[in-house]
Amino acid sequence: MPYAAVYPLVTARAVAREFTYEVDDGVDVGAIVSVPFGRSRTRGIVAGLADTPPAGVEVRPVDAVVGGVPPALVRLALWLADYYGSTPARALALIAPATPKRRKEQASPVDRQALDGEAAPLELSPQQRAAVDRIVGAIDAGGGTFLVHGATGSGKTEVYLQACAAALERGLGAIVLVPEIALAPQTVGRVRARFGDRVAILHSALTDAERRDERERIVSGQARIVVGARSAVFAPLAGLGLIVVDEEHDSSYKQDGDPRYDARTVAAKRAALEGAVAVYGSATPRPESWAALERLSLGGRLGAGLPPVRVVDLRREAGYPLSAPLLAELRGIAERRSKAVLLLNRRGIAPALHCRSCGATIRCPNCDVGLVLHADGSLRCHHCGHSAPSPATCPACGSPDLARIGAGTQKLERELARELPELELIRLDADAVSKPEQLAAALRRFAAAEGAILLGTQMVAKGHHFGGVELAAVVDADGALALPDFRAEERTFQLITQLAGRSGRDAPGKVLVQTFQPEARPIRHAMRHDVEAFLVEELERRKALGYPPYAHLVRIVVSGPTLEPAVRALDELKAGIRGVELLGPAVLFRLRGRHRAQLVAKTDRPRRLAAQAARLLTAAAPAMRRAGLTAVVDVDPQSL
Ligand code: ADP
Ligand code: ZN
Ligand code: ZN
Repeated sequence: MPYAAVYPLVTARAVAREFTYEVDDGVDVGAIVSVPFGRSRTRGIVAGLADTPPAGVEVRPVDAVVGGVPPALVRLALWLADYYGSTPARALALIAPATPKRRKEQASPVDRQALDGEAAPLELSPQQRAAVDRIVGAIDAGGGTFLVHGATGSGKTEVYLQACAAALERGLGAIVLVPEIALAPQTVGRVRARFGDRVAILHSALTDAERRDERERIVSGQARIVVGARSAVFAPLAGLGLIVVDEEHDSSYKQDGDPRYDARTVAAKRAALEGAVAVYGSATPRPESWAALERLSLGGRLGAGLPPVRVVDLRREAGYPLSAPLLAELRGIAERRSKAVLLLNRRGIAPALHCRSCGATIRCPNCDVGLVLHADGSLRCHHCGHSAPSPATCPACGSPDLARIGAGTQKLERELARELPELELIRLDADAVSKPEQLAAALRRFAAAEGAILLGTQMVAKGHHFGGVELAAVVDADGALALPDFRAEERTFQLITQLAGRSGRDAPGKVLVQTFQPEARPIRHAMRHDVEAFLVEELERRKALGYPPYAHLVRIVVSGPTLEPAVRALDELKAGIRGVELLGPAVLFRLRGRHRAQLVAKTDRPRRLAAQAARLLTAAAPAMRRAGLTAVVDVDPQSL
């Protein structure tokens, strides 16, 4: 009877270790088992096997083997726990998500659409051919990481598809990661059209039964290509040959909860562990990828060129959010019954309500941020969801003279409806489309419309491919630029360039950018579609400041019901950490009623720091729990 080292899938840091159980012959690393644990039962994952039990401990047998994942995924999860300062159980839960037992009546689509035949591959351009050959060569050689870059419409997706086909021909599987399934219907559709039933799709809108079915199709080998958002990087695909990370600049690849993993980093690690190739693709790559990866360049857009970008200087043009030049363009759209996409990265009517008498701004009671006025007359917090009716007078001084500052998507929609009643308006933001079906319906409406404006938050800039879009406009480029974040310029550049990519895909198009800062670096480079110049300068700046990719950032955030104990806990943590310079504690803005503070390190040894922090936090856990404090370690945070 062999013995297995099993990690019970329980979240408490106190029992974050292996326990030994007896197992039947043939049970392997990666087996998901049901085990007695204390006085109850839990699921666990077999992480190792031995012929003899450890001395001096009572060893019980496992109840049953209830599933399994490829052994390489267990190694991946244990690495992830270590790298991100989390626990093995929390990381292992990512590779073996709990899917409740299927109820009988659910047992029959999942309605999987039947497909007639499969769409044929396209004849590749010389650049595409070179990229595919390089990737396939690396698959045959047992590994590699690449950046496929080129303008929107330069043929990146075709490269991914043909690389996937090459993996399949070799009996290997492939994973295609997209930022969000609901925002990538065309990409998903093209993978399905090319590979038919061999594709499994994992997304958050699946029911438990559907997710279980898709996982079973992957485990059984029926599905050899997996498309999904960030968590699909853990798909239980055996014999992996390729991982594609589409739109690799998208920050949704970073998980918010514990473990705060980054699917892009995990993809590289998984590929390395399994001898597979990782391919990152974007029209606006991250500086990190530009600096670190072998570049496969596709160049400009196939067919039509990129649209000219015109900057509207808001210091000279009145009428914000609709300046005269923007209105003139939109009138042309209305006359030609054409289409426009407008980006305003703020929801609601007005981002701030400000008293002209005493100067007060109406703020959230739970968070240190201003409340946003919405079309239904409510004031809402975009951080915690707090909502209250908008007051008629200033809560501080009673004055009725309240000014609405700035503009959000709802205000833009109202002004467009007034100025251009003949155009259909389709709003895309978290208020208008809270469910994936609503989002899909809105995108279908826009695709089918004649004479329409798609307006919304950054959702409108994601990789949609709509025909007939003549104009793309950034209503306010300054919002993203003003964020106190080392990625503010990178994000601004990406937003403008990605939005520009929505225009003129099949016919000549135009791009308009409204800003008070026409000289700002990201705007200047985006005007010329000069991705390389922006990245080269951005990398110089990062180097001078010691930011990624020249160092890793690690931050430790502690929150609590009052500020003082949180700061003290961080002071103690800082005193216990050796060999790394930590900045702080710095006080962050209050969020959801919790006071917060953080320590930040720039370091070339993030694992060492994360491991030290995790150890100190485990030791401090009981005292912190008594004080109502919670801590998170965030390795490679996406904003700071
Ligand atoms: P990207 O992913 O870079 O935005 P796509 O792969 O979607 O680019 O290609 C843009 C358009 O060009 C698509 O309509 C695609 O079908 C077409 N296309 C891509 N590669 C080729 C090719 N080699 N020959 C002809 N058309 C192509
Ligand atoms: Zn007032
Ligand atoms: Zn709030």
